[in-house]
Amino acid sequence: MTTESLRLDPAADLLAGIQPPAASPGRFEVVATDPSGPARSGRLWTRHGCVETPCFMPVGTYGAVKGLLPADLREVGSQVILANAYHLAHRPGAERVRAAGGLHGFMGYPGPILTDSGGYQVFSLRSMQRIDDDGVDYRTHFDGSLHRMTPRSVLEVQSALGSDICMILDHCPPGDASVATVREAMDRSTRWARAAADCRADVLTPGQLCFGIVQGGTDAALRREHLADLVDLPFDGLALGGLSVGEPIPEMHRTIAEIAPLMPADRPRYVMGIGTPLDLLVAVSSGVDLFDCVMPTRHARNGQLFTFAGRINLRRSEFRDDDRPVDELCGCVGCRTFSRAYLRHLHEQRDPLYVRLATAHNLYFFHEWVGVMRRALREGRFAAVAALLRSLGAAAESHAGSS
Ligand SMILES: [Zn+2]
Repeated sequence: MTTESLRLDPAADLLAGIQPPAASPGRFEVVATDPSGPARSGRLWTRHGCVETPCFMPVGTYGAVKGLLPADLREVGSQVILANAYHLAHRPGAERVRAAGGLHGFMGYPGPILTDSGGYQVFSLRSMQRIDDDGVDYRTHFDGSLHRMTPRSVLEVQSALGSDICMILDHCPPGDASVATVREAMDRSTRWARAAADCRADVLTPGQLCFGIVQGGTDAALRREHLADLVDLPFDGLALGGLSVGEPIPEMHRTIAEIAPLMPADRPRYVMGIGTPLDLLVAVSSGVDLFDCVMPTRHARNGQLFTFAGRINLRRSEFRDDDRPVDELCGCVGCRTFSRAYLRHLHEQRDPLYVRLATAHNLYFFHEWVGVMRRALREGRFAAVAALLRSLGAAAESHAGSS
């Protein structure tokens, strides 16, 4: 099998003609499984359409994937985008977004939107002031004003935003936290998950989905315990949180591989905040359905472009006269139209067109990378494709290290 044989238009299996029939939001269907492991492909229905899984979700923290129009997102194969309830609650304000028709109306995006609760930002931005059993007091990183976040308040914000998939409030400790700290955060997260489960019917609109979040660091016993605490609560899907927060990469991969297959098979599984192409391969191979990461969009803005032959740093002078596209086989608008030399020039000139083209290219690559796995699962040849992607992913990571 060759790299060329993997290539496809990441939107090809998503566009009109093969849209599955409408179903009630929250319905999840596994349509293919890998006979040699836990990998699977499925469909998740939301109020704003069906998501074919496995699926990578680009990050649009403030209600925009920086530099891209909603039509660009569709063209590169994005199915769901992720926004952040904490950021939007303060800028421009949840009620302002509600009045503008919710986030879908405000940003003119008709597809599914997942919102993170913002708990991660409150804990990781060191803006936390005081934590208790019921919530957390924090100062914003915008203006230092004091606010309170509770399991209920984060769902109220996501209700106002009109999110299709809402994430509950959890306590995510840093990657190097002690076992005692991880346990304390985990027990608090369980209490908050119960509080969210108790109030979701009051706070959320029918059809808004709500996902629970499993914590426990890289300790498999704690992860299993927390999963057991959450599995009977009425969540539409479960996520693994607290990964890719500074722990060693092999530890993260081991945790995903051990815990994801134990998560309920009849509900979507989501690993928050990953990852590199190799991380995504590990996650899909472990039976994960959804992931999100700033990597493709942030790297694009920094001149780092992904290809199946590895990552290239467009700022390097070797690309100044390079008339080839970023990736000969890529179908994105930048690769169909422009050279590396031109993109490098736009980057040097800080032209906004660079951000649009580079972001579209990297998202196209990420959607294609996951789309290859989705298609392989549905065609019953995942093991062979995964083996090839593993070697390509390792190459991409090594390029990343040297640039
Ligand atoms: Zn491209």
